[in-house]
Amino acid sequence: MKEKLEEIYQILEEEYGFQRWWPTISNSKRFETIIGAILTQNTSWNNVEKAIKNLDKFNFLRKDALKQLNEEDLAQLIRSSGYFNQKAKKIKKVIEFLDSGKEINRENLLGVWGIGKETADSILLYAYDKPEFVIDSYTKRIFSRMGIVKDNIDYDELKELFTGNIENNIELYKEYHALIVNHGKDICRKNPKCHECCLRKICEYGVNIHQMNLI
Ligand code: SF4
Repeated sequence: MKEKLEEIYQILEEEYGFQRWWPTISNSKRFETIIGAILTQNTSWNNVEKAIKNLDKFNFLRKDALKQLNEEDLAQLIRSSGYFNQKAKKIKKVIEFLDSGKEINRENLLGVWGIGKETADSILLYAYDKPEFVIDSYTKRIFSRMGIVKDNIDYDELKELFTGNIENNIELYKEYHALIVNHGKDICRKNPKCHECCLRKICEYGVNIHQMNLI
């Protein structure tokens, strides 16, 4: 499995180049990453970018500034990210947590209202440089189509596949996840573009489609 995961990484890196994630636009990189990790729940990055730019436009990409803003106004500013009322509440809860002085670790983050495993791992990896591999729906989709895991594999099991087989290296974790997102967003979409895919020769789904002469 180790060789397989390394091979996939190499192919994706050659195809897309170094991703330098997490993408931020302000000087408050850590705080912006935390906010972005919440905003990206159940939506595309394009919608998150609009919300982030909106917050930046009014100089709200800072914890102290966002604390002063009421939840309703915050919801309007992040409207483009969808589920904006819930996300405004989640942002307020995470700010309360950051101000609580509690240790920033996975257990404590998962105790914050609205923070699930993917969001917690994104915050820990990209904002705090902790070795937590991030699993998202793209990861499940790509690796199940490739025939590596079942499509109903749970979060922790799939995370363990990566952390148990690839080098324990924070930069590698960041880059691998970023490449997966890029591939899932543009190529291995709901309707996959297998004919354009750099992984098609080692992908069970891609090979089957090819053999059936569907591409
Ligand atoms: S060959 Fe098709 S199914 Fe396989 S990873 Fe590529 S786009 Fe996804």
